[in-house]
Parts: sequence; C-alpha cells; structure tokens
Amino acid sequence: MPIATVNPANGETLKTFDELTPEELERRLSNAEAAFRRHRTTSFTVRSRLLTRAADLLEADQDDIARTMTTEMGKPLAAARAEAAKCVKAMRWYAGNAEALLADERPPEAEVKDAGATLARVHYRPLGVILAVMPWNFPLWQVVRFAAPALMAGNVGLLKHASNVPQTALYLEDLFRRAGYPEGCFQTLLIASRTVEGVLRDPRVAAATLTGSEPAGRSVAAVAGDEVKKTVLELGGSDPYVVMPSADLERAARTAVTARVQNNGQSCIAAKRFIVHTDVYDAFSERFTALMAALTVGDPMAATTDVGPLATRQGRADLEELVDDAVDQGATALCGGRRPAEPAELTRGWYYEPTVLAGITAAMRIHREEAFGPVATLYRVRDLDEAVAVANDSPFGLSSNVWTRDVEEQRRFVRDVEAGGVFFNGMTASHPALPFGGVKRSGYGRELSGHGIREFCNVTTVWHG
Ligand code: NDP
Repeated sequence: MPIATVNPANGETLKTFDELTPEELERRLSNAEAAFRRHRTTSFTVRSRLLTRAADLLEADQDDIARTMTTEMGKPLAAARAEAAKCVKAMRWYAGNAEALLADERPPEAEVKDAGATLARVHYRPLGVILAVMPWNFPLWQVVRFAAPALMAGNVGLLKHASNVPQTALYLEDLFRRAGYPEGCFQTLLIASRTVEGVLRDPRVAAATLTGSEPAGRSVAAVAGDEVKKTVLELGGSDPYVVMPSADLERAARTAVTARVQNNGQSCIAAKRFIVHTDVYDAFSERFTALMAALTVGDPMAATTDVGPLATRQGRADLEELVDDAVDQGATALCGGRRPAEPAELTRGWYYEPTVLAGITAAMRIHREEAFGPVATLYRVRDLDEAVAVANDSPFGLSSNVWTRDVEEQRRFVRDVEAGGVFFNGMTASHPALPFGGVKRSGYGRELSGHGIREFCNVTTVWHG
C-alpha cells in the first residue's frame, strides 16, 4: 500500500508521502537507542510532567486532529473527537498512576527468609526501544494506548503506523516533540510493512506490539520469535453479544446497534455475532433490525451521520465478499446487504449499508471470519449451554457481551466464555484502568492498566544475602 491520505468518503488521493530512505531509518534507530539511554534514568516526576504536557496539547488540538482522522479513515467526526478525548484521559491516567503501578514489590518476610535473603525486592525496569505496528481504525487511540504506558515506564517508541493514516502518524511524533520529549523518545517511521522485519531484527529494538489483522500479527510474531523478542498482539475479534430472556430488550437492542456500528463497524471489540435466546429472539431481532435500518449513512464530517464509509476500498470488497458468501449459502439479509445506491455522493465513497444477516450456518465464512464493517449476524439459541457453545465457536476470543440479570447465568458466562473480557448488560469498551486483550486468535498480552505497563518491563529480582 502506498503511504498516502486517500479520503474514503470520495476516493480522492489528497497527499502522498515518500518512505524513509535507509539512511533516514538508520538515523532514527540510532536516535531511539540514544534517547533510551537517557530516558530510562529519568524520574517519574519528569516523565509525568512530559506526558501531562502532551495530554494538554492534544486536548487543545482535539478539533484539528479529529478532522485529520476523519479525512484519512472516515470515522464520524464526533467519534474522532471522542477518540482524542479518550487519549487525553489515558495519558493523564498513566501520568498520575505509573509510579504506583511500577513501585518496587516486597515479598512477605517469611518468603524472603526462605529464599535465603536478608532483603528481596522486585523492580520494574524498562526494556528499551519498543516498535509499535499500528492500524488505522483508531489511529490516535491505538498508538496512545501503547505510548503512554511505554513512555512512563522509561521505554522509547518507534511507530510504524498503517499506510493510510500518515498525517495522524506524523501528528503524533510532533505532539510528543512539542510536549518536550527529547529527540528520539517517540518517532514515526514512514515505512512499508515489508520494512518492518528489518527494524524488528535490529539489535537496538527490544520488543514489539502490534494491533491489526491476524496475518500481520503472525508475521511480526514469527520474526520476533526468531529473535527472541517479546511481543504483545492485539488482533481481530468476532465478539459475541448474548441476549438472554431476563434482558432489558429495548436497552439491549439499542446498545447492540452502537456496539456493532461504532467506528463504521471497524472495531476489534465491536459486537459482531448476536446470539439470542429463542424466547426473545423475534422481539430482539425485529427491534434491532429496525434500528439498524434507520441509521443515517453519509458524509463522516456531517453531524447527522451515524455510519460513514469504510476506511479502504479493499476493506469494503472484503466485507462484500463475506456477506455475498453468506447469502449465497442461504443467509437472509433482514436489512442492508449492499452498497447504498443513492444519493450520488455516496456511490463515490466506500460506503456499505448497515446489515443484519439471519440464518447463519457454520459453513459460512462470516461465522469464522471477522466482519470489519457494519454487518451483524444473528443466531437463535435454545438455552444457556447453546449460547455459550455458539459464543465459543470462533477462532477469536477478544471480548464478549452478555445481557442477563440472572446471577447464576452471569457466573456461568464468566466461567465458560473464551474471551479476554465479559461485559454484562452493556457493551465492551476500553478504560485506562482495566486490562484489555484477548485469547485464541485475538492475540496475547494485555494493554492498559497495570498489566499493560508491565508488559514491556524487565521484572527484576533483587536479592541481598
Ligand atoms: P493490517 O493488519 O494489514 O494492518 C495493521 C498494521 O500492520 C499496519 O500498520 C500495516 O502496515 C501492518 N502490517 C501489515 N502486514 C504486515 C506484515 N506482514 N508485517 C509487518 N507489518 C504489517 O490491517 P488491514 O488494514 O489490512 O485490515 C485487514 C483486516 O485486519 C481488517 O479487515 C480487520 O479484519 C483486521 N484489522 C483488525 C484491527 C483490530 O483493531 N483488531 C485493526 C485493523 C485491521 P500497512 O498499512 O503499511 O500495510
């Protein structure tokens, strides 16, 4: 993919960028190494001041950077503003909490004695230069979710962002520079994905984090494995959204719509498979479909728009293939199932109508693959056991949503759902204080919270005889 800003609302190429030359890349790697040597010795007070300054600057830039994101990847402008605000919050949270999260740990006295020590401590020390390979769907948030804890831990960052969000990527480098971070602490690398391997193999790079598709994750993890370097992977998801008879159906249906079409349906933690108990299936399906069909598809800059275009032409083609495959094999489109045919402006961009598919079978690709766009699949189940079985019948295991007021059912879901999160009577959302990540093909490791900041730390045992 060329590195370029192409407006998904009309397919227009607005700006193209050259890849870094090998010399420029080498300079950046060497800057990163030098920056780490200094940054690792700074105090939490200094790190906190820098990150707080970055948060203040981002808050002031919120409207401008939101427009850039919407132009580059098509999310509704209000959602882009909300994304920037969420980044500010996460930066402030890590600026305020990192020191406590990384405080030295003291094992109990008896254990220290048993280990033959007079004193023993666990220290969290930074790992080094961390490479972040990031996607376009939340082009600010995905990066800040990595950068805020990494920088607070004393690491430095190299960002290889998705090729279709170069202006957001360059903004981030500029943001950290303006906040006062010394040169090399956070750098954007305008490079193609084929150049990632060389960067990851470079001895100056200690570890990598990747958010994106399964193939990209597999490829980065394979190289990192070969180099024995730590990775955190946050890959796709096909989260279940289970509705049991005790659910508040109106709230469940309304929340289901938001959970499915947020970010134009391109979110790893979007609810994608709607698994509904037979007693409430008809009522839920009717209400949910009516709400999905009533959404306004349109220009993402317009305040009235609920669903903008998909971010890339290829992304829409992939989604169309999944829907067509399901319909060819007998699924029914209760609404949508095609590109909008009018008005004319919409036919120039990469739009797709909000879609609800019923009658899904295990033979359909959409049953196993991630539908990255505003397409929901409906499943009818007869009881809790079948709901859990369908929820788990996926290669993914990122998060899950369950609507039930029955405490025993809640206990069962927590015990049995194969996912990194279980959200009851609401939808999955990330928060700086709560760990985020998945199991199975959704990846490994955790971001956010204390778990996230410790991923890229050298957990060091200090023992005194
Ligand atoms: P990719 O996974 O291809 O892109 C994510 C990042 O990885 C980009 O920076 C990309 O760079 C880079 N990348 C891609 N391939 C490699 C590789 N072999 N080695 C190193 N880096 C690589 O996402 P796509 O945009 O192609 O989206 C495809 C599908 O991925 C979506 O339809 C969706 O299913 C899933 N996805 C999931 C996301 C999530 O949040 N879980 C986010 C984005 C996508 P470049 O842009 O230069 O190719």
